Amino acid sequence: MPMFKYVFGPVPSRRLGRSLGVNVVPLKYCNFNCIYCQLGRTKHVINDLRMFYPPEDIIRELEIAVRTRDYDYLTFIGDGEPTLYAGLGKLIQWARDNQDKPLAILTNGAKLIDENVRAWLSELDVVKVSTDAGSERTFRLINRPHREITFDKFIEGIEKFREVFSGQIWTEVMLVHGVNDNEDEIKRIGDALSRYRPDRVYMMVPTRPPAEPWVKPPTSDVLMNLAKVLSRYVNSDRIFIIDYIERGEFHIDRNDPVNSLLSILKIQPMTVEQVMDVIRRNNLDMDILDKIRSLTKEVTFNGIKYLVYSGE
Ligand code: SF4
Repeated sequence: MPMFKYVFGPVPSRRLGRSLGVNVVPLKYCNFNCIYCQLGRTKHVINDLRMFYPPEDIIRELEIAVRTRDYDYLTFIGDGEPTLYAGLGKLIQWARDNQDKPLAILTNGAKLIDENVRAWLSELDVVKVSTDAGSERTFRLINRPHREITFDKFIEGIEKFREVFSGQIWTEVMLVHGVNDNEDEIKRIGDALSRYRPDRVYMMVPTRPPAEPWVKPPTSDVLMNLAKVLSRYVNSDRIFIIDYIERGEFHIDRNDPVNSLLSILKIQPMTVEQVMDVIRRNNLDMDILDKIRSLTKEVTFNGIKYLVYSGE
């Protein structure tokens, strides 16, 4: 099987089961620069759509991957924000017509203010957006968006999308100690969620090394209390707390284990334990770990050792 550049996994996802990923944006083009981002600081803060890659090249890989890999969701993702990719609509249409697994995207949601992006994403089954703030001030502190994006426009885009979208909107609320983990902010986030009525809300804490080293998760007591406050705005059976690292199997190409592991590491840091587990499960040589170590840097976060991809 040829080595893929854009398609990776399936990887275990805390929300999507075995997720076959399609990476459509190079490191790191985003319209946000979140303090907790696991990809590091945003090097290219942009808000216009770009044709980063020819869609035909990505489709060529997808044609093979959807036939040969066992997955629960086909998920569009980026080494940044996937809705900034001008070829996304074409890929979504291809995936609708050529495979029958549900389609998801992990987006921050800021581009939903754009009518074309809303039309593309309305073909999906699950659209995961973020709402980490309930006010302009906290939005600027935690997400550090492109200057064109205001908090009101951001929520308005998701609200407009809700009106036309019959699939599921899942919201991720990333809680950072001392930034948005207070009751007042959660009430304001609750107000924002009431405007677009997500089907699920995931209350998350940073579990992987963040862009800013001072970012810390709230304590579990604070988290439980905030979930209680949020349940005044969103039915509690729609709220899920995720404060752990995913467990499960990462799929790699045994003929090219180093590059397959790197394509996953470009998207998310892995713990040293997870990399060793992949090596053991696939009966590979442990010296692969040394190769991976030489291409990544080791970062300790919350007492756990992670390997973080550091190249372009
Ligand atoms: S967490 Fe997502 S939205 Fe935020 S900076 Fe990273 S890639 Fe962009």
